[in-house]
Amino acid sequence: MAIAITFDDGPNRTTTLEMLALLEEWRVPATFFVLGYMAEKNWEALKTVAASKLKHEIGNHSWSHGNFEKMTDDQLRNEITRVNELVVHILGKDYLPKLVRPPRGQLRKGQRQLIEAMSMKICGWDIDPHDWSHHRTEKSIINDILSKMADTKAVICHDVHPTTVDAMKKVLPILKKKYTFATISNLGRIPSGGLTG
Ligand SMILES: [Zn+2]
Repeated sequence: MAIAITFDDGPNRTTTLEMLALLEEWRVPATFFVLGYMAEKNWEALKTVAASKLKHEIGNHSWSHGNFEKMTDDQLRNEITRVNELVVHILGKDYLPKLVRPPRGQLRKGQRQLIEAMSMKICGWDIDPHDWSHHRTEKSIINDILSKMADTKAVICHDVHPTTVDAMKKVLPILKKKYTFATISNLGRIPSGGLTG
């Protein structure tokens, strides 16, 4: 019974590191979909993600967090390639991302083929507790994840919000009793929920 926890929009120098410490404490491997402009500012945080013995996966969440649907093919390729090149530059070629998560799941017809032609796979999610929203509380995030979690499901969270760290402090020990944790590439399926194209 494996499940996947995924974190988007980092890395940063505060909550990403707190989340990593928490994952370490509970021995939970996770998948980090990083933004290029965040990784460029926070090399050390990205290195800390990669240095974990838990073998966290690093995925590509685009350079700028723009809307893929509004991009030309060249812009889209550039958004993805720049992140891959930066990650390899900082961490080495073993860390070349294999997965792309489009920001907000936005994808236009034909872009899937374009991304797959770059030898990458597109990753959505199954459970979205909206932890990025200011309206959400720690409790609502916890309830949402626990009530919807099931075998092989993947949850999308964000490692850039203190509320998410607080929610994970409570969620991980509970999930740990019932599930093992896998990165997306080790989950056995790639979730496609949340994608528009
Ligand atoms: Zn995002």
